[in-house]
Parts: sequence; structure tokens; C-alpha cells
Amino acid sequence: MKIVIRDDDLNHDFSIDHFKYYERIWENIPITFFCVPSIDFEWFKYLEVCEKIGPGCSSDFIVQKMNWYKISKKISNNSILLKYLKDKIGRGIISIGLHGSKHYQISKNKIIKNNFAFGAEYFFKKFSVSKILADKNYLEKFSDKVKWFAPPQNLISTENALNIFKAKMNLSTDLKILKDPRLFFKINLKDLFNILYWKFIKKIRFYYPFVINILGQKLVPVMRFNDQTDYNFLYNQILYLSKNGGECVVINTHLSAFELKSKNNKTVGNNFIALIELLRKHDQFKFIKINDL
Ligand SMILES: [Zn+2]
Repeated sequence: MKIVIRDDDLNHDFSIDHFKYYERIWENIPITFFCVPSIDFEWFKYLEVCEKIGPGCSSDFIVQKMNWYKISKKISNNSILLKYLKDKIGRGIISIGLHGSKHYQISKNKIIKNNFAFGAEYFFKKFSVSKILADKNYLEKFSDKVKWFAPPQNLISTENALNIFKAKMNLSTDLKILKDPRLFFKINLKDLFNILYWKFIKKIRFYYPFVINILGQKLVPVMRFNDQTDYNFLYNQILYLSKNGGECVVINTHLSAFELKSKNNKTVGNNFIALIELLRKHDQFKFIKINDL
């Protein structure tokens, strides 16, 4: 079974220190970083604000608490980070995907659990094919081909999902978007039967471990890895999927969260490495970059 590590949010404000956990594994385990091309606020202040105010807050309240940049910061403006990434891309140990455009929206009174409304720009705003392509082309200036899109908070409207496919990009996100008939009836027929078989005959509901072909592009769901994750539980879930004939799993994590403490009192980063070490012991798992799905 193929395993993809999808790490989200990489942007201008990250420094080389943030990669210390990945430096322990990425010579053997490729990582796909889903980048935010440009940001308008101090990223780590944003994470701090969200942490401090707790869940259930409206977007406009978060807006007031942030430190906003006068001029947008593009990831390529951070020359040290850029050089570091280019070296790893050149050596083929990491690859790049597109994660939104600026990772925020400020429409008033929008509330989604865990303050996700603020980040959910692809859910609340419209993105044209040309804007999607402009962001993709920008990342390709320093990367290999950017073929995959992952929406911030894994939230995307049907209109934007259709535009992602029109831009000839593949999509990694929760499969609940398929509830919309405009997408559901565009699923490749063979995949549709497999989805129904997996869910209703095999009765495996927690993850669908296959690529779905839709509108000439690919769609894959995500398994989350964060400070709430019990890595042994996730390990057993992945083993179970593999035993049942699953073909691929996308593990979605955030290097910005790697220093947080998990429930077992270890850091998220150490738990993540522990999961990878457990999986590596099995020959049936092959770690790949998302472009190889
Ligand atoms: Zn994100």
C-alpha cells in the first residue's frame, strides 16, 4: 500500500528549525509540503491567537487579534527557506503542492468548529481557474510540477472543486464534498461501485484507501495526524486498510504543530516519527510523494 505524507501550511514565516523532525526521516521517507503562496499576517501569531481564544469564535474577532503585514509576504521572499527547499526538491526528497492562496477569508459571522471559518477561503470565497493557475505557476517557479491541491481546513465549495479540476489539478480533501450531485455523478463508474462496496458491503467507514477518478483528475481523502491523535490507533487502522486490500493512504499533518504536546505527553513530532518507524517495518508499505499517486 502506498503512503503519502501531506504536510500543510508551509509559507513565508517558516524557518529551517521547523524541519528538524523531518530531517530525521526524509532521506528515506519523502514528504509533500502543501504551501501557502502568500500570507498577509504573521503566521505563528495567528496560530497563537486561535489557540488562546479557543474554538467557536467568529472570523471577524480573529481578524482584530492578528498582526497584519503591510505588504503580502510570498514564500520566495524568505530566501533562506527558499534555498533550503530548493535543495531538498532538487534531491527528490520533498515535493510541493498548493494549499489555498492566502489561507484566510474575512466574511463576517462565519463560524465553523475550531475556528476553521477564518482559514476556509476555498469554502467561502470564489477562486477562478486563472487565479488557481497563477498560484500553481508561482510555486512551480521553484518546484517540480505542482499537480495537487489541498484546501485550507480541508474545506472547499463545489464550485471551487470544479475549478480545481478544470485547472487540471488533483484534489486531496475530505470526501464529504462528493455528497453534491454535481460531483457525485461525475465519479468514474468503477470507482463509484468500489466506494459503495467499501462502505456498504465491507462496512469500512473511517477511510477510503483508493484514488477516485473524477472529471479526468484524481481525488483522495485524508487521515489526520495532530495533537489528538493516538499513533498506535492510527497505525492499526492503516494495517487494517492494507489487510483489506487498500491501495493508498494520505496522512495529513502540520509541522507547525510538531512541538505541541500530545495526550501521551510526547510531542506531536515524536509521535509522528514513532508512527513512521512502525510502518517502515512492513514491506507492504511504500512511501511516495503525492505526485506519484
Ligand atoms: Zn492549512
